[in-house]
Amino acid sequence: MERREPMEYFPYENLRAHQEEFIRIVDDVVRNGENAIIEAPTGFGKTISVLAGVLPHAKEMGYKVLYLARTHRQMDRVIEELKAINGKSPVSGVELRSRKELCLHNYLREYTSDAYTAMVVCKNLKKSGKCPFYENEKKKKEEFEEVARFFLREPSHPSEILNYAETLELCPYDLTRKVAEGADVIVASYLYMISPGIREAFLDGLGIQYEDLIVIFDEAHNLPDQAISALSDRLSIHTINRAIKEADEYGENEIANFLSILGRGLEILFQEKLSSRDVQETPIQPELVFSHVLNVLGINARYLVKTLNEMVSVGDAIREDRINKNEPPRSYIGRTGEFLLLWLSLIGRDDYLFLMTRDKGLSLELVALDPSKALGFIKDVQSAIFMSGTLTPLEAFHDVMGIDNARLKKFPRMIKRENALVLVAKDVSTRGAERSLEVYRKMADYIVEAVKIIPKNVGVFTASYEVLQGLLSTNLQVRLEETGKAVFIEKQGASSKENDLMVAQFKAHAKANGAVLLGVMGGRNSEGQDYSGDEMNGVLLVGLPYARPTPRIEAQVRYFEKKFPGKGRYYGYYLPAHRKLVQAAGRVHRSAEERGSIVILDYRAMWSNIRKDFPDWLREGIKPVDLARMRLYLRRFWANER
Ligand code: SF4
Repeated sequence: MERREPMEYFPYENLRAHQEEFIRIVDDVVRNGENAIIEAPTGFGKTISVLAGVLPHAKEMGYKVLYLARTHRQMDRVIEELKAINGKSPVSGVELRSRKELCLHNYLREYTSDAYTAMVVCKNLKKSGKCPFYENEKKKKEEFEEVARFFLREPSHPSEILNYAETLELCPYDLTRKVAEGADVIVASYLYMISPGIREAFLDGLGIQYEDLIVIFDEAHNLPDQAISALSDRLSIHTINRAIKEADEYGENEIANFLSILGRGLEILFQEKLSSRDVQETPIQPELVFSHVLNVLGINARYLVKTLNEMVSVGDAIREDRINKNEPPRSYIGRTGEFLLLWLSLIGRDDYLFLMTRDKGLSLELVALDPSKALGFIKDVQSAIFMSGTLTPLEAFHDVMGIDNARLKKFPRMIKRENALVLVAKDVSTRGAERSLEVYRKMADYIVEAVKIIPKNVGVFTASYEVLQGLLSTNLQVRLEETGKAVFIEKQGASSKENDLMVAQFKAHAKANGAVLLGVMGGRNSEGQDYSGDEMNGVLLVGLPYARPTPRIEAQVRYFEKKFPGKGRYYGYYLPAHRKLVQAAGRVHRSAEERGSIVILDYRAMWSNIRKDFPDWLREGIKPVDLARMRLYLRRFWANER
């Protein structure tokens, strides 16, 4: 077979600095069947570089490229790059979205929230002949196949496929999957691969074998958290109570009785373990959840498993019944059975923590401690590439995610030194013992003065909502409004829609007097959100976002300590916080040319053991300041911009 060269898949005239090296490394890695962990800064052009690197070998060998990203915006960007490549060398690509986003059936769109329920509903609607779009797909088989072939000629956004399918009254979800079967590149969300249940169904459905896959993880710094959350689960006492009602409604008396006794046992346990309002969560011995019900009913473990399996079957039947009645397709019995079976199956595993919590009501929680368990499949794929602007130190990422046979590469800064000002206040900190109204007032002075000097928009990201409240208690909002800038405050628990609207309004002020956005580090506005140009000229980072030493954090540290002796606290506690800070700092530079100022309101950021985790552009040139010096540096830095 003729060997293809990466530059055949690079559609632009000029290469940016180091891009060719990046492309060559990726090309080499996939040809050798290795993995790679690559850090390259903002503005590098990682997406086009990784595609140009993997496509030659993928096309030669018939491997499928699976490009995984976190947000829709990131996924759309991949399709844009594929379109550009296709103008030079033929390549096909498609972006997968959830059923809910692509389905045309009103019932599914209205009533389903999660992927699993959407799958069950779709299956039922198809089976009962109640989906006209699927019926059309069968009737107009030729047309369906022809449209799929059409989309294989040009990489397309989901909206393009959706519009086409809507006009032809075909199912856009099935059409997208049909295109995916033949496409060179599938763009999808992380969840498709890190959630074990979804992964198997996804690959089986498309007839893809692991060994035929090259997987790219973009913005890979998100992976540890995403993996933990994909492997964890939670069941509230509220769901169990609803399950009892449901069992009564459906005449499932035995299940109703079982659940009532189980629920009573849990109440006793909650009273015993979480009686103090100050305790938010506590680890429990997992068997205790079943002791009461086993005692009262006089049943053994085998009978328990049988009952839970029965609950799952009854749940499936209830979902089906509700679909037929045009009611929301949920079953509390099914959900409870599934959770408790999982709980039982994980007893004895040291990579899980069993908790009782009072977060969002009294709940049982299964907390995964080992994110690498979500990536067990990596050893079976041809290659996996992990890339991000924030992976320092690469060795830690490599360890925590358990990626063997990997090449590690770090590309240098893109941001010119003169375009970044990094200041650290030397007289404030959010260290537990030092938090006081006086310190918050001092911090508020820094923030107000910086906001006055920084032209246009400013982000203020705090270590936690508690710190944000501490700052607001100093009358900060009024003082900020007096600067003439609009003030936006991130709301904990706001819906994505509400938050998106707020961020859009904040960004719009960049064209007027500017605005201030107050939020937390590690939150949705300090990570994964792009602010270009004046939309965020400066950030103030208030404190270091170390997690509170809750049982789950302590268990994480202990687990990592056992797995990586001497590094447990660093991997489980310090490093995640340092990454959050770096992410928030990175909001000011969306390209190498942009100017941005970063003020860290915590003197610990000067400490060498913390600074070592910062990327070069943040670390080099960092300056300790007091309030007067901060004013001076900021004025000089922004002198010509106002
Ligand atoms: S076949 Fe398509 S349109 Fe019909 S319910 Fe399923 S996803 Fe929706």
